[in-house]
Amino acid sequence: MQIFNNVKQAQDWCKSQKSSGKTIGLVPTMGYLHAGHLSLVRMARQKCDIVIVSIFVNPMQFGQGEDLDKYPCDLKRDTELLENEKVDAVFAPLVRDMYPEGYSTFVQVQGEITDKLCGASRPGHFQGVTTVVSKLFLICQPDKAFFGQKDAQQAVIIEKMVRELNFPLTIVRGPIIREADGLAMSSRNVNLSEEQRKQALILNQALLAAKKEIMAGQRDTEILKQGMRKMIASQPEAQIDYIEIYQADELKDIKEIVGGKIIMALAVKFGNTRLIDNLTVEV
Ligand code: AMP
Repeated sequence: MQIFNNVKQAQDWCKSQKSSGKTIGLVPTMGYLHAGHLSLVRMARQKCDIVIVSIFVNPMQFGQGEDLDKYPCDLKRDTELLENEKVDAVFAPLVRDMYPEGYSTFVQVQGEITDKLCGASRPGHFQGVTTVVSKLFLICQPDKAFFGQKDAQQAVIIEKMVRELNFPLTIVRGPIIREADGLAMSSRNVNLSEEQRKQALILNQALLAAKKEIMAGQRDTEILKQGMRKMIASQPEAQIDYIEIYQADELKDIKEIVGGKIIMALAVKFGNTRLIDNLTVEV
């Protein structure tokens, strides 16, 4: 397994792989890998000749006062896990190589899909994401890039960016991987106390309860959101950031569920740890 810390070396290697006719699958991550990341790696392994995993805690997508300093990191463990998955290359660049002094080029998907949900609570976050993902696409030149449904809004925004900027690649989405008790896997889960970890189970439970109500015929999104709000607020440490229901493909507002695919998405803080989760329901 190749390990690149240098942008130019990674780009040259990917270019040579491509010119020898190999297809490249890229899995962008911020590291501290778990089974959610590895499920994307396995999808890439199945669909592409070469798999490259990037590990980069991108400072540009963290706002002031967010958890950049507390974001967990263990590159040695990550590379061992990826070696076991028969990954061909790890790209773990330095911040100063990705954003040299004076760096001032940004990629921004504007409009409603960026301004709501995490975009509303984390101004500038998605500009940081689309900028770094564009750079990763240009460095690694993937034929396919793999993203998790866990970050559903991110996937929608990146798919739009790829369409509108004509990046010559396909986005493949992987399903949310959960712990046995239902908590969505996240690198941030290690920052939860034992008590917060227990309380956080309410997120998946609230989503499943709302799904059950939809299946039983409830169509009013306000009532569904209120139900989830009540369940989550019953946990003493839960601070709700948002609970929303949108049409799934373009995150369009809906008052009443009339059919098609809808997404219920939420963000809740437990102490300083902000968790997100979502559930898509086909009606
Ligand atoms: P992150 O390292 O958190 O930036 O995530 C890197 C990629 O892994 C993103 O595409 C995430 O959506 C995806 N991912 C994170 N957690 C999960 C999960 N529990 N299940 C599936 N994919 C995930």
